[in-house]
Amino acid sequence: MFDPYLGKQEGLDFVVCSLCGYKGANITRHLKREHGGAEGYPGKIKSDRCVEHLSAGANSSWDVRGRKEPRDIGANKTHKEHGLTEDILRNLYIGEKLSDAKIGERYGITGEGVLYFRKKFGIATRPREKVNSMA
Ligand SMILES: [Zn+2]
Repeated sequence: MFDPYLGKQEGLDFVVCSLCGYKGANITRHLKREHGGAEGYPGKIKSDRCVEHLSAGANSSWDVRGRKEPRDIGANKTHKEHGLTEDILRNLYIGEKLSDAKIGERYGITGEGVLYFRKKFGIATRPREKVNSMA
């Protein structure tokens, strides 16, 4: 199994899309393509190294031209299908009254990711019911 991010550090060398688990040094493009844009995305979009590189110029071993990010291979392979469709999300959130975090757990994404999808699908946040004893 080929993992270009093996041994690399999350946040520093790459970031992980909190909506689907896609990894990249800069996931702006990914967000645009897979999730309709980076707007409202609840996480980090560029790795520190990527940001550093952009601001400091070409002072790292990272060469801009030579290194073809595995965009074509990666985009589809790494993109995890979480299967959280609008219907399912609606059912879980409104029907089963699960929290974003719980739904995220089931689908391998973060609660923020679920929130993002809810906003996208126009599923309003539940009015806060009686706060359970969840410290
Ligand atoms: Zn994604």
